[in-house]
Amino acid sequence: MSNFYDKYFEKQKLFAQSLAEKYPIFFGIARMPIEKGIPFNPIQLSIDVDAGWWKIVEEASAAIEKLNQETPNMEIQATQIKEKFGGLRIYTNYTTDEVEAIIEEAEKKAAVTCETCGGPGSLKGGSWLYTLCDECFAKRQTRTFDNIEEEITEIVQTAKEMFDPKDEDE
Ligand SMILES: [Zn+2]
Repeated sequence: MSNFYDKYFEKQKLFAQSLAEKYPIFFGIARMPIEKGIPFNPIQLSIDVDAGWWKIVEEASAAIEKLNQETPNMEIQATQIKEKFGGLRIYTNYTTDEVEAIIEEAEKKAAVTCETCGGPGSLKGGSWLYTLCDECFAKRQTRTFDNIEEEITEIVQTAKEMFDPKDEDE
């Protein structure tokens, strides 16, 4: 069981690492070089959304990084990227109107995108809210120790398709 979680978190780590390499200002790496010999720690970046939203996060990161590069003295950094009340949240150290607009667009896209598979989704749930498609929501509702393996395998597969330069598994 834990093997599947390990794989899942490994994908999350690869995603965070790739973002940090591609957008070093936005992810604070340009000004905060990681010490030699100390492995990259994605928790520093606190990116915690499922693979269905990764593309949206990547697009917003690219747009904000471009502004960082083009605007003198601008150094907007991500402080946290997560799901809250079923929605995508991108928090930054400070903001501008342009950055607000980019983040708003990403959050709007995420609101209609399944966080698990990246297909069309909508807000679902009761005491805990998710943005998911019907199929992924049904799986989430009936999640047990027996079927979570299948679910995580699918999430890892989605992640591979959306983001995985080379697959080192198996
Ligand atoms: Zn889905």
